Amino acid sequence: MNKKMLDALNGQINEELNSMYIYMAMAADLDEMGWGGMAHWMRKQAQEELAHALKIQGYVKDRQGRVVFKAIGEPQLTWNTPLELFKGALAHEQHITGTVHKLVKLARELDDIATEVFLNYFVSEQVEEEDAAHEIVDALEKVGNSAGPLYQVDSWLRKRE
Ligand code: MG
Repeated sequence: MNKKMLDALNGQINEELNSMYIYMAMAADLDEMGWGGMAHWMRKQAQEELAHALKIQGYVKDRQGRVVFKAIGEPQLTWNTPLELFKGALAHEQHITGTVHKLVKLARELDDIATEVFLNYFVSEQVEEEDAAHEIVDALEKVGNSAGPLYQVDSWLRKRE
């Protein structure tokens, strides 16, 4: 594989692991706020990010590339409200969508058809990730600070498998 493509994929492994770390911190803060269902949803999200990192690691290996791990930064640890927190998660997913699209453009530039096809999964995945985050932000905006409806959102998010 082209060195530029390899470096970029290694960079994406770091982005995915960084996402995992951010969502673990968000889950911990949601637990702290007493919203166990939202925390559960966020921990599932963190697990998905690890799966993304592993998927890229597997692909790099299949292309005879060397996986290189870089440092992961310290995440934000506290948020004021679940709404602020989920808005942060949505903004982060929008950032990740940008990084995925950059990878696709690089694969096209380098005429790396196999990598472009591999990345299709991540392009579609990001549409779903952003939609899921939007849906939760919308729900939290509607309920505001009323405890009853917030509990309903919490119960809804607890159902994530
Ligand atoms: Mg991801």
